[in-house]
Amino acid sequence: MRKPIIAGNWKMNKTASEAKAFAQAVATKIPSNDKVDSVVGSPALFLETLVSESKGTDLKVAAQNCYWENAGAFTGEISPAALADLGVQYVIIGHSERREYFHETDEEINKKAKAIFANGMLPILCCGESLETYEAEKTAEWIEGQITAGLADLSAEQVSSMVIAYEPIWAIGTGKSADATIADTICGVVRSTVEKLYGNDVASKVRIQYGGSVKPENIAEYMAKENVDGALVGGASLEADSFLALLDAV
Ligand code: 13P
Repeated sequence: MRKPIIAGNWKMNKTASEAKAFAQAVATKIPSNDKVDSVVGSPALFLETLVSESKGTDLKVAAQNCYWENAGAFTGEISPAALADLGVQYVIIGHSERREYFHETDEEINKKAKAIFANGMLPILCCGESLETYEAEKTAEWIEGQITAGLADLSAEQVSSMVIAYEPIWAIGTGKSADATIADTICGVVRSTVEKLYGNDVASKVRIQYGGSVKPENIAEYMAKENVDGALVGGASLEADSFLALLDAV
C-alpha cells in the first residue's frame, strides 16, 4: 500500500512573513504522517523558516530546485548539501516551468536527482506534455522519454523511495484540469515505464502524483484512482485553509 503524498508548490510566491504565518497556521493541524505525507514546496528563501516552524509536526519541507554540485563557483545556485543540512526532505525537480523558462534538460534533471539522493533527500521528479503533444496523441511516448532520461543510473532502491509527478502543461494554472481518468491513465504510463526499467516491485512502490489545477473540490476524484498516489498543487496550496482542506480530503 503506497502512502499518499500531497505537496504544495508555492512557486515564486509569498514573502518571509507570509511564509511564517502560513507555517504557524497549519503546523498543528497537519494530519498524521501515518496517513499522509504533507509537504510544502517553498522558495529557497523561506526554507529555514518553514523547517524551524514545522519542527515536531508532521509537515515536511521541499525545495523547488537545486544544483547538482554541493559547492563551488556557481553564482546564484542552490546547494543540495546546504538544503539537506537545513532539514529539507524533498526537492522538486524538472518542473515544466524550469524546463521551459530556464531551459533545463533531462540530463541536468537526472544529475540533480543523483545529487539529491547523495545528500539523503528525495526528489519529486516532474514530467508532463504540452498541449501540442497531447493533441497529437503523443503523450505516452513523451512521458516515457522524460522518465527514462530522468531516472538514468538511479538504483532500484532509490526509485522505490522517490516521487514522480505527472503535470500536463496545459492543465497548470489554467483551471483546466486533466480529468481523473486521463490523470490515472498517464500516471499508469509513468508506472509502466518504471516497471519496464526496474521491474514490478519498484513500480508498485514508487509514488506518483497528479498536478494541474488540483483543488480541495476535485482532489478526491484523483486520489480515488489506482495509479494516483497524491497531488502536486500550485495555486490551491497557497492559503493555509485550502492547503489543509487538500490534506483533509485524502
Ligand atoms: P496549479 O495547481 O496552480 O495548476 O499548478 C500546478 C503545478 O504546477 C504544481 O507544481
